Amino acid sequence: DPNQSGRVYHLALDIGGSLAKLVYFTKKDDGYVHGEERISPQEALAKSKGSRSYPVVKGRLNFMRFETSKINDLLEFIKSEKLHLGGSRQQDVPGNQNMFIKATGGGAYKYADLFKERLGISLDKEDEMDCLVAGANFLLKVVPEEAFTYLDEQKQFVQIDHNDLYPYLLVNIGSGVSMIKVEGAGKFERVSGTSIGGGTFWGLGRLLTKCKSFDELLEMSYRGNNRVIDMLVGDIYGGTDYSKIGLASTAIASSFGKAISDNKKIEDYNPEDIARSLLRMISNNIGQISYLNALRFGLKRIFFGGFFIRSHPFTMDTISVAVNYWSKGEAKAMFLRHEGFLGAVGAFMSSDK
Ligand code: ADP
Repeated sequence: DPNQSGRVYHLALDIGGSLAKLVYFTKKDDGYVHGEERISPQEALAKSKGSRSYPVVKGRLNFMRFETSKINDLLEFIKSEKLHLGGSRQQDVPGNQNMFIKATGGGAYKYADLFKERLGISLDKEDEMDCLVAGANFLLKVVPEEAFTYLDEQKQFVQIDHNDLYPYLLVNIGSGVSMIKVEGAGKFERVSGTSIGGGTFWGLGRLLTKCKSFDELLEMSYRGNNRVIDMLVGDIYGGTDYSKIGLASTAIASSFGKAISDNKKIEDYNPEDIARSLLRMISNNIGQISYLNALRFGLKRIFFGGFFIRSHPFTMDTISVAVNYWSKGEAKAMFLRHEGFLGAVGAFMSSDK
């Protein structure tokens, strides 16, 4: 029971189109940790907030995620862990306790009444882009080994020089995709985006493969072979490269293009192969649009976040190869360990504003 070991200092929410993310702080280092990821925030808090309003306390940031469609699970979790009793109070007037917690994402609006009714919590809304950028800046500056490249099946952590972080392109692949040019703390512009994102992979994947969960779809893509579905340059050129314009025979000429040439029905295809083609198509497309935006603004570094990635090697590889290929090695794709929690961390950071 985390309540006995560590008092919860505060918590913050990012309720997106697909997933609701929760970040909360528990005192005590050897406490109990929920979720899959952890960073030790004592240093983080000290660095980011100074001793101004927060003592350097020993503790942990805990990360949790729930499907937004099962928002009740999140409410139940907060209730069962009594997180709503330890948060920051804006007005500590007996009998009139107003609990405020920071929340971002569309769900901060959509579910505001539900939180108020069920838990007596008022959601203090923070702008989604502000939170994304604040979260990314914070994690990149404070967490050692937050960013890494993924090339040739090798994960390599990147040392980020605090004085040389900006400018960069932040690509957040959630349900939809946002591309943000970041030039400093609070200095950013959403320059592009695409609706072909994580929600597309999950939605289209469900329709095409009948899989029951996102994890199942992802799992299937591990085992699939996209060449069964995609039309490759070699399929068109009879196995040879189209070397004049630099296309290898293995390059995808048309995603899903092979499905037109057979007399096969959808059930004749392996769902694994479909999942893999779909993942490839979406990752490639995002990598390409990202690169074009990096080029547009002369940005050399692109950080990719959002829960679509899920540290999936194939996804990261596809994005990296796309960025590398289109930029002729000029731009670098980097991934974040706390990929899906940027907004929630940003909301958390704004708790003492
Ligand atoms: P949002 O804030 O829009 O919900 P996220 O960064 O949380 O964005 O990413 C959501 C996307 O992550 C989904 O559209 C899906 O592609 C992917 N995803 C990863 N894990 C899951 C999961 N367990 N359930 C549903 N979607 C998941």
